Amino acid sequence: MAAIEEACVSQRFILGPQVTRFEQAAALACDAPHAIGCASGTDALWLAMEAARIGPGDVVVTTPFSFFATVSSILRCGATPVLADIDPATFNLSAESVASHLGSAAGDKVKAIMPVHLYGQCADWDAFTTLQQEHGLLLIEDAAQAFGATWNGIPAGALGDAAAFSFYPTKNLSAFGDAGMLTTGSEELAERATMLRAHGMRRRYYHDEVGWNSRLDTIQAAVLEVKLRYIAQWNEQRRNRAAHYDQLFRAAGLVGSSIAEGIVLPITDPRAHHVFHQYVIRAPRRDALRQYLSERQIGTEIYYPLPLHLQASVAGLGYKRGDFPHTEQASAEVLALPMYPELREDEQATVVETVAAFYA
Ligand SMILES: *Cc1c(COP(=O)(O)O)cnc(C)c1O
Repeated sequence: MAAIEEACVSQRFILGPQVTRFEQAAALACDAPHAIGCASGTDALWLAMEAARIGPGDVVVTTPFSFFATVSSILRCGATPVLADIDPATFNLSAESVASHLGSAAGDKVKAIMPVHLYGQCADWDAFTTLQQEHGLLLIEDAAQAFGATWNGIPAGALGDAAAFSFYPTKNLSAFGDAGMLTTGSEELAERATMLRAHGMRRRYYHDEVGWNSRLDTIQAAVLEVKLRYIAQWNEQRRNRAAHYDQLFRAAGLVGSSIAEGIVLPITDPRAHHVFHQYVIRAPRRDALRQYLSERQIGTEIYYPLPLHLQASVAGLGYKRGDFPHTEQASAEVLALPMYPELREDEQATVVETVAAFYA
């Protein structure tokens, strides 16, 4: 409240001093040389690509198993999204599946790969770095769900040429409204993104390029500056709760190595520091289980029930059911259970007992 009051007293409601302070602190936290606050995670994705001059004629390869903005931001830049299937273990974009698009004629137009660090676990950055070296592409992270996650000890936000974060109120680092940020190690990208987020101005009322209004509110930055001090602790609490769920599900005898045998627990790559933005299981008879939990006041969610290649708005891309079997199977099986830093052990026990009662 004191931080919000500071913004109110200063009357600098847009891009005020707290925005700059938050950007500097967030850049430090992500180990990224530059952080640029903006209006949303969607805008951060768009700004990253627009700053990198990705546009008409360019292809960006990404995953169909994500939030819609992953694909819509590519279309907003005028580029063409090409989709590739996920790794069924981690739910993240499979580098192997991306590689199959890079040898072809269309492969010549591939300007960037945009992996998503889904549920708080970084995508296989070793494999994507290899593809980058072989094919000279840009790597853009959709890190909307992964503030504080790392790959081989390197934070999300410092892995790619640019990264986009969302601070939408449900994200693990969240504002009191819409907010986002892009990070980059490139001085040039940072300068362009800063210009583009404010109507393409470097000098007030002189528009060098057609940018957009994607400024960050000072009040949102004020909230984020305070919350940033707690994010490491909150992520640690999420990790502890995830480990506790694992233990409870195993003790209840509900776990299988495949869905034919029981619940499949989240799988973490040993190189990833997973921050459990979501704790997502694969569940037999998922929809009936969800209904059962809902009737007993246990909130769950499906991220995401309809893969991006099957969304009506992008039917023009020409994909059909059957194109990405791992993604389609995941959409039918995943269930996100209650997960937040303040979740109590007795609440987790209730969740697991209720799941057990359903299968009994
Ligand atoms: C939330 C989210 C976005 C979009 O962020 P907004 O701040 O809602 O615009 C993009 N990608 C992924 C993976 C997300 O989870």
